[in-house]
Amino acid sequence: MPTASTGEKPEDRTVGNTPTCPHCTSPYIKRARRTTTYERLISLFYVYPFSCQLCGHGFRLFQPGVRYVRFEEDQREYQRMRVDLAVRLRQGTLSSDGAAIDVSMRGCTVRDSDPLPLATVVKISLKLPNEPDPVTVEAVVRNSSDNRMGFEFLRFEGEGRQRLRQFVQGILNGQYH
Ligand SMILES: [Zn+2]
Repeated sequence: MPTASTGEKPEDRTVGNTPTCPHCTSPYIKRARRTTTYERLISLFYVYPFSCQLCGHGFRLFQPGVRYVRFEEDQREYQRMRVDLAVRLRQGTLSSDGAAIDVSMRGCTVRDSDPLPLATVVKISLKLPNEPDPVTVEAVVRNSSDNRMGFEFLRFEGEGRQRLRQFVQGILNGQYH
């Protein structure tokens, strides 16, 4: 039985300027849960809590006209699933090939004999089975050991999120194993 819970997404995605973290100017921010009555109240006036995915700084943003609607989310998509996917990591002009050994909608683990330092931001291209084009996502190194790095996904390119979701749902439905 899938454990569904509610998440939120913006109803109107045409937010003008891309907001950034006021602490470190990172563009990788995400909506945070409204926890207090005050936050629920001010959200009526389009003021929403956010947190920075790189430095963890919490702040509020005024997003006139943007409403967030609740939707059902399959929490299983956020558990690591064992895979073996070819990946290419790119950082500026450098690139290296490796293999992802697990993946979820939140991130992946890449086997690499020369792991990058924590907090490094790279572009990861994930080669999905039977798909000509890889899914490309910007990601940050969250942990690393001798021969592997754990990445958190920050921002997908194009339809990447939907395509990865299809793949992950395929694993959950037993399509690949
Ligand atoms: Zn920040």
